[in-house]
Amino acid sequence: MPDLYIDGSWVGARAGGLRTICCPADGELVAEVDEAGAEDTEVAIEAAHRAFHDGGWSATSSRDRGDLLLQVADLLERDTDVIARMESLDTGKRFVESQYDVADVVSVFRHYGRVAAEDSGRVVDTGNADVVSRIVHEPIGVCGLITPWNYPLLQVSWKVAPCLAAGNTFVLKPSELTPHSAIHLMRVFEEAGLPPGVGNLVLGSGAVAGAPLSTDPRVDMVSFTGGVETGRRIMAAAAPTVKKVALELGGKNPNVVFADADLEVALDYALTAVFLHSGQVCSAGARLLVEESIHDSFVDALVERAQEIRLGGPFDDSAETGPLTSEAHRDKVEAYVARGLAEGAVLRCGGARPDDPALGTGFYYLPTVLDGCTSTMSVTQDESFGPVLTVETFRDEDEAVTIANDSIYGLAGAVWTQDAGRAQRVAARLRMGTVWINDYHPYVPQAEWGGYKQSGTGRELGAAGLDEYRETKHVWHNIRPAVQRWFGSGE
Ligand code: NAD
Repeated sequence: MPDLYIDGSWVGARAGGLRTICCPADGELVAEVDEAGAEDTEVAIEAAHRAFHDGGWSATSSRDRGDLLLQVADLLERDTDVIARMESLDTGKRFVESQYDVADVVSVFRHYGRVAAEDSGRVVDTGNADVVSRIVHEPIGVCGLITPWNYPLLQVSWKVAPCLAAGNTFVLKPSELTPHSAIHLMRVFEEAGLPPGVGNLVLGSGAVAGAPLSTDPRVDMVSFTGGVETGRRIMAAAAPTVKKVALELGGKNPNVVFADADLEVALDYALTAVFLHSGQVCSAGARLLVEESIHDSFVDALVERAQEIRLGGPFDDSAETGPLTSEAHRDKVEAYVARGLAEGAVLRCGGARPDDPALGTGFYYLPTVLDGCTSTMSVTQDESFGPVLTVETFRDEDEAVTIANDSIYGLAGAVWTQDAGRAQRVAARLRMGTVWINDYHPYVPQAEWGGYKQSGTGRELGAAGLDEYRETKHVWHNIRPAVQRWFGSGE
């Protein structure tokens, strides 16, 4: 069965392109999927454009759209294990983590299903009794949605659910490395009765299949999650047609531990912050800032535990984390660590591939701790997107904040302290879209997610995540029209 979903039909790539997907955990073939060319994306854009302008979707009531999203949530929940297996084979991620991810996807669809009809605009008091003035929300139009490989369906859901809730149509281009859960999502949409052309799926490389989504004048908005370099390119490509652009980019997220924190808990979370999913998390706490007085004991204990983390494939019950997503990505992480060592970082553990022959065909990399780092090193400034923790020290609150904010990024960060006043002061001064106090990583669909500075523009999730996909219109109704005589009043 072909893999591209365009205008309500499953079709192959016009030029016949195919891509081989292999599991990063063992290099085994997962499947071959259709690889779209730019011409396939253009046909998909035309379908989405037609469905938006001719079709009934944007005119459906927000309640009906919400009901469809709730139905989709139920169907995805029904298919949890099927989707989790696809996610694990495409990413190498542990099956249990993929199951958590699908549960999160379901709650994103449920959230936007429930809120779709909640905010129907407002009446404005103009001070003029002869006028009815209303603010209404309308869909933007055709949305190009481009997503990465680390949380494949979850990142898709953060875009698709609010996009449909608001009444838009879309062309989705998921990461070329992890296409299967997006294919399944379109099957679920088909089952739920999404009208043809409203949701379209193209698969393939960003430079070819993805590029028209930021240049084509029929696309009204492009929403992108991925690396900062790609984000810059997409923003520039969208400029000539003045599209709305929403960007969720990278991060180099500080995890700030004060000496007065509950250190046992802080240590435990410091490991999860950086090594969850082998560091392939945009909000990974990859930059540990620890108060100087506790540096030695804290980092010694952290290194000891990092060395015990068990690596393995998706269906290995003893594994605690999995491989990197590709050989090319592991090469990048290796080069990043080598750069750090050349700049003077001290390798405390990891810094190599595991020597277990059972892992030899996967793209594994050991949890790595680089101590003795400073803000001037590339390893504290650049995102590795791998299992690499850099360690810096600070002497007081001011210095902690200065170092934490010394970054082009501003996605997320955490502060660990039992002093509530300090926690609030530091949280207020961190220039980031999310700050956790005495916690790391949780998010909920009800709360906004996104970055300050070069971590992006716009927000996903929460009320703002729906607003991203809506235009705001002012409707002014003069209920007692009368001749004005602005001109000709002298006659
Ligand atoms: P990437 O930028 O390489 O690719 C992301 C997507 O963009 C893919 O689908 C890719 O095919 C597509 N793409 C690439 N070039 C394109 C172009 N010229 N036009 C259109 N599409 C194009 O990123 P990645 O390696 O897939 O993902 C890792 C990055 O994503 C990391 O930097 C990570 O921090 C970031 N990320 C951010 C968030 C967030 O919420 N802020 C979440 C997850 C991942």
